[in-house]
Amino acid sequence: MNPVGKPGKTGTLMPVEAALARLLEMAEASPITEREYLPLAQVDGRVLADDLISTLDLPPWPNSAMDGYALRLADWTGEALPVSQKIFAGQAPEPLQPGTCARIFTGAPVPSGADCVEMQENAVVQGDERVCFNEALTVGQNIRPQGQETTAGELILQAGNRLGPIEQGLCASLGCAGLNVVRKARVAVLSTGDELVEPGQALGPGQIYNSNRVLLCSWLQRLGCEVVDAGILPDDLAATRARLGELQDVDLILSTGGVSVGEADFLGIALREEGELALWKLAIKPGKPLTVGHFCNVPVIGLPGNPASTLVTFALLARPYLLRRQGVKDVEPLRFPVPAGFDWPQPGNRREYLRGRLENGRAIIYRNQSSGVLRSAAWADGLVEVLENRTLMAGDEVVFIPLSDLLG
Ligand code: AMP
Ligand code: MG
Repeated sequence: MNPVGKPGKTGTLMPVEAALARLLEMAEASPITEREYLPLAQVDGRVLADDLISTLDLPPWPNSAMDGYALRLADWTGEALPVSQKIFAGQAPEPLQPGTCARIFTGAPVPSGADCVEMQENAVVQGDERVCFNEALTVGQNIRPQGQETTAGELILQAGNRLGPIEQGLCASLGCAGLNVVRKARVAVLSTGDELVEPGQALGPGQIYNSNRVLLCSWLQRLGCEVVDAGILPDDLAATRARLGELQDVDLILSTGGVSVGEADFLGIALREEGELALWKLAIKPGKPLTVGHFCNVPVIGLPGNPASTLVTFALLARPYLLRRQGVKDVEPLRFPVPAGFDWPQPGNRREYLRGRLENGRAIIYRNQSSGVLRSAAWADGLVEVLENRTLMAGDEVVFIPLSDLLG
């Protein structure tokens, strides 16, 4: 069976979910299995390769949640208790002498024999270092018990978790100095189009600046990928073949442009001739045409070239594909319902991802939603999903997908 699937029937559009499901299947068929051990400080943005099991109880011993006094509740009869020791964080206390209390500070180990900590604000210190307690006391109060957070042997993070500052902090709290992570996916980024010029150069007639290249290169790095910047590819079959042939040591070739089944669709021709090709017409706007295939066994995803189309198809399709290749289980972005702050009178036959923001709890959208307008996304905080064949009145529910989640 052709692993990239058959193209949809002419005229029918492939639903976004179906395209995503096929891409995830492809990703699962060629997972990146190599791994490397990295010091904890270097794992930000990487994918955990092995389950992380705690070897410690956290906290390792009962400790005080307050600055105050530790006592055994049974010793408190209403008579002031003498202070028999002072325990700072980082010290090992003596067992509590019966009939006394201990001055204790936040994070310090609670001495054996004590079962209660009263905060200093509720303690009355008498001149000769004796202390009275005026509020009711209970066993265990203001004590963080051993193993409250974690017990030794517990599963803390599963393989396939994406690591960031919080996971790094959590691993550090367990004494973990380094982790096995999945090798970075190597992704070649290709921009196709005779009209493209890099910023910094003068624009000639008919030329525009290449915005997709830097956008994708930076985004891929945030996703923990290693980027092979393959530059601009002219609209030319021989050049396309040659460049694709050079990119054989990557996990994915990600191109933009040249997929509108126009006359300059050289990516499609090259894949058809020397690999496998599926042209998908997706029920997504912006971004209908998507090329998915292989060139000499290297997977290729060709995104549409209009910058907002590149952004939306990368966010919703290529991003989860790449995360899944790296073993990430949870690849779906955060999405939540919000009331629309706009009317949508004309139903479309494609699912729309409007560039929008939240204002007073409602989703509002940028005035120009053209697929060529990247400014819409710079203005936006998220994508506002409007289902196919839907009309909306302000106040109706739409789904909001924050860009902050998609970008990381
Ligand atoms: P294509 O899919 O090649 O027909 O491109 C669709 C539209 O996107 C055209 O207007 C292109 O000029 C534009 N486009 C393609 N690639 C890029 C790029 N890398 N940066 C900015 N615009 C692009
Ligand atoms: Mg083009």
